[in-house]
Amino acid sequence: MKIEELPEIEPNLSPADRGTVIHDILSTFYRRWRASGHTNVCRSTMAEAGELMRTIIEEELAGYRFRSPLWDATVNQMRGYDQTGPGYFERFLERESEEESSALVPSHFEFSFGMESDPSDDPASVVDAVELSGSGGTGRLRIRGRIDRIDLTLDGSFLIYDYKTGLSHPLYGDIEAGRALQLPLYLLAYESISANHGVAAGYYRIRKQVERRILLCDETGRSLIASRPRVSPDFAGTLARSCDFALEYIRRIRKGEFPLPHEEKCPNAYCEFRRVCRFDPYRVFECEEES
Ligand code: SF4
Repeated sequence: MKIEELPEIEPNLSPADRGTVIHDILSTFYRRWRASGHTNVCRSTMAEAGELMRTIIEEELAGYRFRSPLWDATVNQMRGYDQTGPGYFERFLERESEEESSALVPSHFEFSFGMESDPSDDPASVVDAVELSGSGGTGRLRIRGRIDRIDLTLDGSFLIYDYKTGLSHPLYGDIEAGRALQLPLYLLAYESISANHGVAAGYYRIRKQVERRILLCDETGRSLIASRPRVSPDFAGTLARSCDFALEYIRRIRKGEFPLPHEEKCPNAYCEFRRVCRFDPYRVFECEEES
């Protein structure tokens, strides 16, 4: 009868697309804000910032044509709605205005290094990957990436933010344990590219509750950030150890070592492949594989 299956219809943005939309709105906002001569968002410029943000949200959302209650809810969360309160971006601007007196000014957005170029990249992005050395000059690694946002002072101190749109992000303990390398390695990478001095790094969680968490900070960073975050006990040492962790992981990957972390568990107790899967503790034991 030549009846074709109807195409699958996505009722809403995928989590990845939602993240992209939020990143795009935030980077576009600050690019236009800075191009119009502004620096930090302050209480006195909040109305103007809100107006610009609303324009950008509408431009961005106009590119999507979902028709579902889920999409309507997503749009309401972004724009804000009488019943649910201010949207993500209005809350973001509120958070930003808390740092109005800071000498750190949002300056680069989607700054890439060593990545394939993308039209949304910061114009100052560089094509080459960055080479970093382990402590004491032992070992070298090359990294590439894209930094969501870099705030700079006039004398070259900088702060890095990574925007997170998921439920959770790594904590300071994860950095110390070598489980979260992104912020320390990005600090080192941008220091190497720019010859500026990294003083802090953190996550900006953009959900219904907008939260800014500075996880790494030295004394200078603390004096520059209005919310006065806690100084990391050994800021420079933490960065150097993260580089050593990365070198050690590379060494082990090259040797073919892929051990399962102790804390990693598969939640699927009924999987029929359990006996051949590395998550089965007995299989690991029988293979004498490190765990
Ligand atoms: S194959 Fe292993 S990891 Fe995958 S669902 Fe089964 S037990 Fe879990």
